[in-house]
Parts: sequence; C-alpha cells; structure tokens
Amino acid sequence: MKRQRTIEWQTNGICNYNCSYCIQSPKYRQGYPTSEEIDKFLEFFSQLEGEWEIKMSGGEPFAFPGFMNQIIPGLAQLNHRVSILTNLSASRYTLSEFCKLIGHKVNIISTSLHREFVDLKSFLTKLKYLRSLLPQEVTIVVNSVLVPTTLTELLEVKHEVESEGFTYFPQWLKTKTGKFNYSESDREILPLLIGDKPNSKQANLSPSYYGYPCWAGVDYFILDQFGNAWSCRTAKRYKEGYLGNVFQGDVKLWNHSRPCPYTICPCTVPANRGMIEL
Ligand code: SF4
Ligand code: SF4
Repeated sequence: MKRQRTIEWQTNGICNYNCSYCIQSPKYRQGYPTSEEIDKFLEFFSQLEGEWEIKMSGGEPFAFPGFMNQIIPGLAQLNHRVSILTNLSASRYTLSEFCKLIGHKVNIISTSLHREFVDLKSFLTKLKYLRSLLPQEVTIVVNSVLVPTTLTELLEVKHEVESEGFTYFPQWLKTKTGKFNYSESDREILPLLIGDKPNSKQANLSPSYYGYPCWAGVDYFILDQFGNAWSCRTAKRYKEGYLGNVFQGDVKLWNHSRPCPYTICPCTVPANRGMIEL
C-alpha cells in the first residue's frame, strides 16, 4: 500500500462528554493551545514538504472554540488534506460552517457513537445531514466501542448504521494495559460484530506488529495539544519516540523505517495509511 503521509493531531484535550470507557483519564483530558500557539502549528504545517493528511482529534475538537475560529480557517489555506475524529455533538450550524470552509479538503470523517450521551436515531439523523454537505468521495465511518455486556444491542446498532449506508467500525475496548478480556458470553457475539478475520479497515482490534518495519516517525507522527511530536501513540505512552516540540521549532523527523518494538498498535491509522510493511 502506498504510504499516505499523515499527522494525528490532538488539537485539544477538552471534551464535552465523559464516557465511562474513555481511555483518556479526565486528568489528561484537558488543555488547548493559545491563539499564538495555533499560529505556530499552522506555520509548522505550512513548512512541511508535499501533501500531508492532518487527522484531528481531541478530546472533542468541536468542543474547543479555537478549532472552528482559527484552526479550520487556517488549514483551509494550506496545501494539505484533513480528516477528523468527532463525537458528532457539534450543532448542525457548526457542521455546515465546517463543510463550507474545508469540505473540499476532507478525506475521512470518523464519527464516534457514544450511546451513553446520544441515542442512535438522533446520531444518524445528524450524520445524514453531514453526509449531504460533503463531496461524495469523502469517507464517513461510525466508530463503535464494543462495550462489554452491550454487544447484543450493538448488533442492532450495526444493522441500523449499515442500513443507512454508513460503515460500521467496531473498536475492541482498550484498557490502560492493553486489550480488554471479554467474557465467554460476549465472545460468542463478537464474531457477529467484527467478522471472522477482520482487517484494519473493518475493525480496530489493536493488533501487534512487533518486529515489522514501520515508517512511524518518518511519514507518520502524532502531535499533542502542547506542541509535542511523537513517532506514534504507543511510543508516546512509553515516553519514547519524542521528535521535538512545534512551539520550540525543533521537530525533527526520522529518515528511515524501524522495526516496531511494541506488542500493541492501538490505532488503525498507521496500518491504513501504509506505514507498516507486512
Ligand atoms: S467522546 Fe471520546 S474523548 Fe470524549 S469522553 Fe468520550 S471517549 Fe473520551
Ligand atoms: S505501534 Fe504501530 S505505529 Fe507504533 S511503531 Fe508499532 S506498528 Fe508502528
């Protein structure tokens, strides 16, 4: 698969939800860049060579006023694509402004369905509205955390999401130490939700790519809301793979692939952008 240079940018920590299964603890689900710092991010992106995909997440990006006031108008002027991970709680007006400003640069909209805070019907109604505002080639997926003991209900959710023409993307529940160990009865239902042998475009099972050459740190990296750059999510978790800080102007990417040293790759972005040589 051709490598699609990608930055995963946690634009802000704040979130308007508080999901019981969130892997970001409330202690770290905070912080956002100042206006001057957003300018530094935009300056940094403007100096990157070639076209990158900037995939933004939070917290919840739309819960941070600077996202719509400054980040999106700024990115609309640059020569990069954008993607977004959102809980879809933004108002219809805000979503419509987003699409007006940057809809033509969007690659993927990943929406996360959190049934603790929204019912499926309202979620899908808003999602259809968003779909109507975007070019047809934009991919829209519905992320759904496989919350233990709710899997039977999720079979119905999957059916409803797919009936409306959207991609249902199940996510294996993660814990601070790795992957959640489902009960025997949940394990009987899991294959109906994720299939027998799902690939990284069909489900996020947080697999291991230990030992495979990976281009993280070269053509893929992550940025946090404080300007820190890291080679990948797992590296950051272990305080490894630090690449520098955008505000200090010292981000330096690696220039060659390295064998993956980790036994969990929690996010499908590196695999789906061709970073791992399998
Ligand atoms: S919406 Fe996402 S970031 Fe916010 S609390 Fe839920 S899981 Fe965490
Ligand atoms: S955890 Fe994933 S992104 Fe990080 S080095 Fe391993 S394969 Fe690459």
